[in-house]
Amino acid sequence: MNVLFPALSDASPQPALRFGERALSYRQLAAVAGRLADRLGDAPRVAVWATPTLETAVAVVGALLAGVPAVPVNPKIGESELAHIVSDSGPSLVLSEPDADLPGALAALPRLDVDLSGADEEVPPLPYEPDTESPALIVYTSGTTGPPKGVVIPRRAVAHTLDALAEAWQWTADDVLVHGLPLFHVHGLVLGVLGPLRRGGSVHHLGRFSTEGVARELAADGTMLFGVPTMYHRLAVEAGENEALAKALGGARLLVSGSAALPRSDHDRLAAAAGCRVIERYGMTETLMNTSVRADGEPAPGSVGVPLPGVYVRLVDESGQAVEDSDGETVGEIQVRGPNLFVEYLNRPDATTAAFDGGWFRTGDMATRDAAGNYRIVGRKATDLIKSGGYKIGAGEIENALLEHPGVSEAAVTGEPDEDLGERIVAWIVPAPAPDGAPVPTAAELSDHVARQLAPHKRPRVVHFLEALPRNDMGKILKRDLRA
Ligand code: ATP
Ligand code: MG
Repeated sequence: MNVLFPALSDASPQPALRFGERALSYRQLAAVAGRLADRLGDAPRVAVWATPTLETAVAVVGALLAGVPAVPVNPKIGESELAHIVSDSGPSLVLSEPDADLPGALAALPRLDVDLSGADEEVPPLPYEPDTESPALIVYTSGTTGPPKGVVIPRRAVAHTLDALAEAWQWTADDVLVHGLPLFHVHGLVLGVLGPLRRGGSVHHLGRFSTEGVARELAADGTMLFGVPTMYHRLAVEAGENEALAKALGGARLLVSGSAALPRSDHDRLAAAAGCRVIERYGMTETLMNTSVRADGEPAPGSVGVPLPGVYVRLVDESGQAVEDSDGETVGEIQVRGPNLFVEYLNRPDATTAAFDGGWFRTGDMATRDAAGNYRIVGRKATDLIKSGGYKIGAGEIENALLEHPGVSEAAVTGEPDEDLGERIVAWIVPAPAPDGAPVPTAAELSDHVARQLAPHKRPRVVHFLEALPRNDMGKILKRDLRA
């Protein structure tokens, strides 16, 4: 039996993957991915041109069956980043859909088109699985804080994280996941595609995220939705005006957000418009999933919940000591250990060594812990912790306060050097559209709003108005670009 995907060995007629009109049952997936695995033979490593298609999902499953590490590549990636990923990861082949027009560095590689014909032919014997410590995937980080790093993810971590999430989310073979995320990061690929397949359930991928697609699939037979905060923001805004969408969201068994913090204002909007609650989970490419609000847990907007089964989490202060307090106020860096961790950064022994404190992985994320053991992320150590006037201030709470203002659509907060304060708080604002010609809020008004909502020392000293915030393809705000 296949240990990573037991349901593939059963080769049942149950639905496994659906992308738009095209679908494969477990039996059909075992047939096409099994044949692809045969063709991969003993390739050392393969790149996957990770468009949001059935071919990408089959390519990754085929590589996993063959025990060949797969490197998913963002199809919208720029030339120089692509050249870096290809030379860094050294794939011997690229897998793609038949008509893909592969750019630069990938076009130079031998190519294997993913062939979905013959899905109803006999299922070949599935190959013998490699050791659980061997690499399953090499996934590049989102590049939010610097150039993306290749993360070597072992099969053991994939299996562990998916089983831990199943326990926390009561995720079963009866679940149908509605999916609109890209397939070249952990969120869309490991959770969104491999997750349902490990459970023996199914996934409906929208191809491209749309609020209509979410409404349609949840109203049909979808039970769960995974999304990033920018998606839930759009759903929250539209659910206020679209009854069918509000009803579909309200009827879903589980709505999960991750990859970045979901602003308080969007939790509130969704609760008001659709009566639904969104669960947040916290993870990284390097660690897969660390914590989550549990499906049977108390509603906890703004919290990323408790450590997943088998995962150890601690907070560490600046002197490297573990923070003992569970007062919901003392901030420390999150460090994790457990079977969910990666092996190493590819070709970066220096970065791998620097990332560990004994067996603990330094996440670079700062958080508090309350008496019930719930973690609340304050932000990233590198970009979200502002040292101003002797205080350490998290950018996130100021962003949340700004987003509560009706004149604000998007907000980001950074620190910049200040002679008196050490650092001063800077807000970057996208004003909300004002159909009735209402004036956009002034800098002083927003600054006063924060001082009133939070505390005077948390007042932004500088406010910039922008048309849009710079974001990457997961919708994460690129603060290094704001500063530049
Ligand atoms: P890079 O490491 O290249 O700078 P990145 O850290 O954004 O990019 P990922 O591994 O995709 O790359 O993202 C992990 C990060 O995403 C975490 O370290 C954390 O900062 C953030 N994150 C994930 N989930 C949440 C969440 N629920 N709330 C807040 N932040 C989150
Ligand atoms: Mg990171």
